[in-house]
Amino acid sequence: MIYCEACGVVPVPYEDLPVVLPIDAIPSTGENALKFHESFRHVNCPKCGGDARRETDTLDTFMCSSWYNYAYVTPYWKAGQPLSRADTPWDPAEGAYWLPVDQYTGGPEHATMHLLYTRFFTKALCDIGVVPFREPMLRLFNQGIILGPDGQRMSKSKGNVVAPDEWVEKYGADSVRAYLMFIGPWDAGGPWNFQGIEGVKRFLERVWSVVDDSGSRGQGSGVSDADRAAQVRDLRRITHRTIQRVSEDIEAFKFNTIISALMEFNNYLVKAKETAVHGTPAWDEAIDSLLLLMAPEMPHIAEELWQRRHGGSVGDRPQRRFTGARSIHVHPWPTFDAELAKADMITLVVQVNGKLRDRIEAPADISEEAARELALASPAVQKWIEDKPVRKVIFAGGKLINIVVG
Ligand SMILES: [Zn+2]
Repeated sequence: MIYCEACGVVPVPYEDLPVVLPIDAIPSTGENALKFHESFRHVNCPKCGGDARRETDTLDTFMCSSWYNYAYVTPYWKAGQPLSRADTPWDPAEGAYWLPVDQYTGGPEHATMHLLYTRFFTKALCDIGVVPFREPMLRLFNQGIILGPDGQRMSKSKGNVVAPDEWVEKYGADSVRAYLMFIGPWDAGGPWNFQGIEGVKRFLERVWSVVDDSGSRGQGSGVSDADRAAQVRDLRRITHRTIQRVSEDIEAFKFNTIISALMEFNNYLVKAKETAVHGTPAWDEAIDSLLLLMAPEMPHIAEELWQRRHGGSVGDRPQRRFTGARSIHVHPWPTFDAELAKADMITLVVQVNGKLRDRIEAPADISEEAARELALASPAVQKWIEDKPVRKVIFAGGKLINIVVG
C-alpha cells in the first residue's frame, strides 16, 4: 500500500507486484529498518504521480513468527552485514547444524496455534527445496499452567490473579523463578502457594550464608587425618551425585527435582561448613558446583556469589562489573565423576540360624527394610531357608543380619 497526501491509501498496481524489499535495510535501532530506508520509503503515487510513501509494515506478525526459527540462523545478526547469499535466507552450514529445532516448549494453547503455522511454512519450504525436512520441531514439551491460590485458573473476574511483579519486588526475581520451578512437575503446573515461595526464599538465604566465607572457619583442629579424609570423601560424593542428578534432571525438564536436589545439597553444606572439610579443595569444588548448578534456575544470585568468590573484592561493586571474573553464565557446566558419585558400599553379613550363609554388597546408607529384603532374596540364603517359616529377621550392628527359621 502507498500513502498519498492527495489520494489517500493507494494500492500498488498489479503489474508492479511483487514489491521487492531492499537487501540493504539493516536492523539497528530495534525498529523496523524499512522506516529508515529512504529509497524504499519514498515513492511516487501511482495515481497522481506526487510524493507518497510506502507502507513499511510489510508482513503480518504471524508471517514472521511462522519461520523465526529459520531467521535465527541468518548471518544478518551474526556479522551485522547484509546477506550476501541470494539463494537461501540463511547460511546453509549454520542451518545444517541448528535445524530442525531440537526442542520446542510453550504453553499448550499458544504452541498449538504457532505450530500450525510454522509446520505449514516448513512443508512449503520443503516443497520448494529450501529445507530438506518437513517438520520444523523434533520434540514438543508443553509447560503446565500456574493456577491461582484457590486452585482455579487465574482470571480477573475471580480475583485470583497473582502478579509476579509484586513478588519479584518483595522476594527477588530468583525466588519467584525458582519457586515457579519448584511448584510441581513442569508439564503439570499447579496452584500458587504463598508459603511455598517463603521456603524458596529461605533456601536462597541459606545458600548465601554457606557461600559467604567472611565469617566462620571450619573446625579443622583436633580432627584426625583419617576422619578428615572420610569427611572429604563424603563431601565429594554428595557433590558429584548432585551434579549427576541435576544434569540428568535438566535434560528431562524436571526443574522441581533440581530445586530439591540443590536444597538437599545445601542442607548438607550447612552442616559440613562447621567441620574440617571447610577450606579444603573439596569444599571449593562443592561451592563452585553448587553455584554452577544454580545458574540456570537462579541466575542473579548465582552470578553475584560467583563474582564475590572469583571476581573483585566486595565493596568494589561498580568496578567489579567490568574487571571481575568471567560470568558464571559462560562457564562450562560441571561434570561428574561416576565413581565418586557412587554410594559407599558395605558388606552385609547374612546368617541363617546363626551360621554365615552369604555376604552381600550394599550401599552404606541402606535402610533396615531394604537390607532385610536384600538378605531374604539372596539365593544362597534362600537355599537354607527352603520352605521353613521365617520367624525373625534381626538386623543389628549395621552390617550383620540374622535370619531365624524353623
Ligand atoms: Zn496521489
